[in-house]
Amino acid sequence: MGKFIFITGGVLSGLGKGVLAASLGYLLKARGYKVTLQKIDPYLNVDAGTMNPYEHGEVFVTADGKECDLDIGHYERFLHQDLSASNYITTGQVYWNVIQRERRGDYLGKTVQIIPHITEEIKRLVRKPLEESGADIAIVEVGGTVGDIEGLPYLEAMRQMRDELPRGDTCFVHLTYVPVLSTTGELKTKPTQHSVKELREVGIQPDLIVARSHIPLTPDARRKISLFCDVPREHVIEDRDLPSIYEVPLALEGESFPAKVLDVLSLPSRPADHNAWEGFVGKLRRRSDTVRIGIVGKYVELRDAYISIIESFVHAGAALGARVELSWIPSAEVEESTDVLRDLAGILVPGGFGERGIEGKIAAANHAREEGIPYFGICLGMQVAVIAFARHVLGLRGANSTEFDPDTPHPVIDLLPEQRHLREKGGTMRLGAYPAVLAEGSRVREIYGKEEIAERHRHRYEFNTDYLERFERAGMRASGLSPDGRLAEVVEIPDHPWYIGVQFHPEYTSRPLRPHPLFVGFVRACVGR
Ligand code: GLN
Repeated sequence: MGKFIFITGGVLSGLGKGVLAASLGYLLKARGYKVTLQKIDPYLNVDAGTMNPYEHGEVFVTADGKECDLDIGHYERFLHQDLSASNYITTGQVYWNVIQRERRGDYLGKTVQIIPHITEEIKRLVRKPLEESGADIAIVEVGGTVGDIEGLPYLEAMRQMRDELPRGDTCFVHLTYVPVLSTTGELKTKPTQHSVKELREVGIQPDLIVARSHIPLTPDARRKISLFCDVPREHVIEDRDLPSIYEVPLALEGESFPAKVLDVLSLPSRPADHNAWEGFVGKLRRRSDTVRIGIVGKYVELRDAYISIIESFVHAGAALGARVELSWIPSAEVEESTDVLRDLAGILVPGGFGERGIEGKIAAANHAREEGIPYFGICLGMQVAVIAFARHVLGLRGANSTEFDPDTPHPVIDLLPEQRHLREKGGTMRLGAYPAVLAEGSRVREIYGKEEIAERHRHRYEFNTDYLERFERAGMRASGLSPDGRLAEVVEIPDHPWYIGVQFHPEYTSRPLRPHPLFVGFVRACVGR
């Protein structure tokens, strides 16, 4: 059995606990340890799938089809490793399991309570990723802030684990915020002291405190945190604001953070090779050509809703030495006029649900096709490209997806057959990785450089292949199909500088050191204009 690092957060949310956990994962992996990461979200949704992106940002999907919090995306990107369903748990999931057991009568007449039944289930789920992956170390991030009512059962479960496991098998890292008073420029440690006090009240004494701050921690701030929070001075770690999240691991290495964590875990801190990572960060700093790409979507006010797409452009830009500047365009604005699309080197329409803004996305896909502007459609972005082609090239008036117009005369996008009789919304989409076969001589085959791919999906609707022949005759080709030939996974227009729509989400699998070929191909086409 491996060891556990528990990461909690204090003072306020949004401090970058996910990036801290992911960075630590990277740093331990770079030392040859096998690592797994888990995120706990203390809300009652069973998974992130039913949540509006405005509430919680992007829904990230694992290869095995779990709809997760966006932090799982950071974990996969920093680790260059696929995670699975057990790497993400919510309170909804914990209670669901316990209540099902209760209904089956498994508790044999006992009163079912938060302690021990909920805490036992939490411990079982927290151990699972280690057991499944055989990793040496599991890093477990507890969402929310210490002091939240929702978080208490988790902290209690972790406190119990510290007592139950041998000494040196658990390490508690607490991330806090150290604000700077603008009038005096002074770092204030009091909020940190309070949040550690709160942690102590539930029986947890952190081993290390990571202090997020705008400026470097002064020796005095380190001394105070050490004294008042009862951790050794060298266990106070600075986590300063940096220009890119990818610089965080290197800065934490500079603080000897991984060596100190390993010391708490009684594990040797072997030498680490950061050459590849430093090379990537160096490329980020050196990017020269600027290229403006427009993203036409519904949630553009909230960048977290598209975090994996943003990161995919960072990876592809670094690989090509280009700085991709993303222009966020609300689809409702395109509905009024496509003028907002001028001066763009390329257009991307991301995934989405629901009717609002859909005509603007269709107009954007149409504009890119007519004007020869590189176009990349992801999931819904592929579907609107198909609708635009049906209406404006095939002349099918009123063509639409049955998601937006159930009575359309031309349902060129329609429900997947297996979706027809589903009533429940949660976890019932076509989710996770599926294989696709890329057509000989197609652009997408050239981009991937191989015939068979596997990509992650999250959708209910798809291209209606009854119309396929007409599309192909008129110049839009289904260049990627499911192996049984039933589903169109990729469409492209060969007679266009770069026009590709994919039914899957390539952004979920782009990594800093392994940028996704479709993003690289798209950015290259945009730079070349
Ligand atoms: N709403 C569309 C569907 O369900 C597209 C989904 C998406 O873009 N992820 O098929």
